[in-house]
Amino acid sequence: MKNLFSQLPAIDSLLRDPALQPLIDDAGTAFATRQLRAMQQEAREYIQQHQGLPAWHANWPDEALRRSEQQRQSALRPVFNLTGTVLHTNLGRACLSDAAIAAVTASLRQPVTLEYALDDAARGHRDRAVAALLCELTGAEDACIVNNNAAAVLLMLATLAPGREVVVSRGELVEIGGAFRIPDVMRQAGCQLVEVGTTNRTHLKDYRAAITDDSGLLMKVHTSNYQIQGFTHAVSEAELVALGEEHQLPVITDLGSGSLIDMTIYGLPAEPMPQQLIAAGVSLVSFSGDKLLGGPQAGIIIGKKALIARLQQHPLKRALRVDKMTLAALEATLQLYRHPENLAVALPTLHLLTRPAAEIRQLAERLLPALENTFGEDFSLTIAPCSSQIGSGSLPVERLPSVAITFSPRDGQGGTLHALAQRWRALPQPVIGRLQEGKLWLDLRCLTDETAFLRNLLP
Ligand SMILES: *Cc1c(COP(=O)(O)O)cnc(C)c1O
Repeated sequence: MKNLFSQLPAIDSLLRDPALQPLIDDAGTAFATRQLRAMQQEAREYIQQHQGLPAWHANWPDEALRRSEQQRQSALRPVFNLTGTVLHTNLGRACLSDAAIAAVTASLRQPVTLEYALDDAARGHRDRAVAALLCELTGAEDACIVNNNAAAVLLMLATLAPGREVVVSRGELVEIGGAFRIPDVMRQAGCQLVEVGTTNRTHLKDYRAAITDDSGLLMKVHTSNYQIQGFTHAVSEAELVALGEEHQLPVITDLGSGSLIDMTIYGLPAEPMPQQLIAAGVSLVSFSGDKLLGGPQAGIIIGKKALIARLQQHPLKRALRVDKMTLAALEATLQLYRHPENLAVALPTLHLLTRPAAEIRQLAERLLPALENTFGEDFSLTIAPCSSQIGSGSLPVERLPSVAITFSPRDGQGGTLHALAQRWRALPQPVIGRLQEGKLWLDLRCLTDETAFLRNLLP
């Protein structure tokens, strides 16, 4: 065993090995040394446990290069999202338009007029350009941009009703994934929640009865990720605005996703539009940048000028403000909405959501022969209709007709299926499908580069 230890190469001599020079040039001596030390430690432990040398002992430089490459890979790996969920929160939600990507890149290379007004050389306002666009598109008086919609809700509550009561329908006290619960956010904002109505029905008289001298706000929350069906009643924003006016109380709406365009034009289910709520007189409306809007992660608040000014001045705004990358991406995304006729082409989210099932089926038919060639021995492959979903809590019950290639293991073993899914997750660009009914489903709705897909998947 002593003999085996003495066969381990010295770090110094490895560092002089020409085969390791590219790594040292690229990643530096310190990184290469750490890598080799870890390997040496691992080899020692291996000798102790197995009284032999690890297989990679045959070629230390190769192994060091392989490990380094793995470690230097980004933790944000591009993947093929074939889950059938278009806006997949765990996969980063919306993929941005080329215009937004170009705008972000440009904003990073050079100094930009983030808070600098060129006309009077005074300190400008960082949300100003995006706010002007939002006003043009929605008819709102002003806008405020924060890190995400959760932050938007927190800022609205903390600014408009600290220490006051906020009246919300019991049916709208939702939890959005990742521990965002309306009652918890209320508490964090220093507001006191006043629940009115019942889970399935809330009436205007319920809100009216709950208003006291301590009321600060009337609030509506879009129940984006679930739906109550049957004997239900909710109070419209317009009715609530009228009640608010009687009592000089602002009405705010957390819209969740919100769409700036009428989704039904594209054959998609209707989603409330922020501009409709502004027209109904709602004081502030908040929605996400990276849900149906198809932009970067952001929380967008639009509404009355005087209230937005208060949000902008609140100390929390400084903590929740977005950076130039987000503003650049958001501005470029909103610019696309000026030309709605072109939107289904220019905006990837809308492009994917509106992809016809017939087109997806053709894609499946093109891919099937090559996939059968490789996987046909162990799996039976079929082209099957399936249902995509929008995701991110948008329109939870609605499904989009789509087409998948399914893989059923010929040995009928779940283990074989899991092994396949695992192997695909280990690819240079992991392929993420959906396990369901004893099959692995690849919903092809979000597959846009079939050449890259095949090159990545096939040996
Ligand atoms: C998604 C959602 C949120 C949270 O938005 P993020 O942008 O993910 O922070 C808040 N409220 C509703 C109703 C939502 O649908």
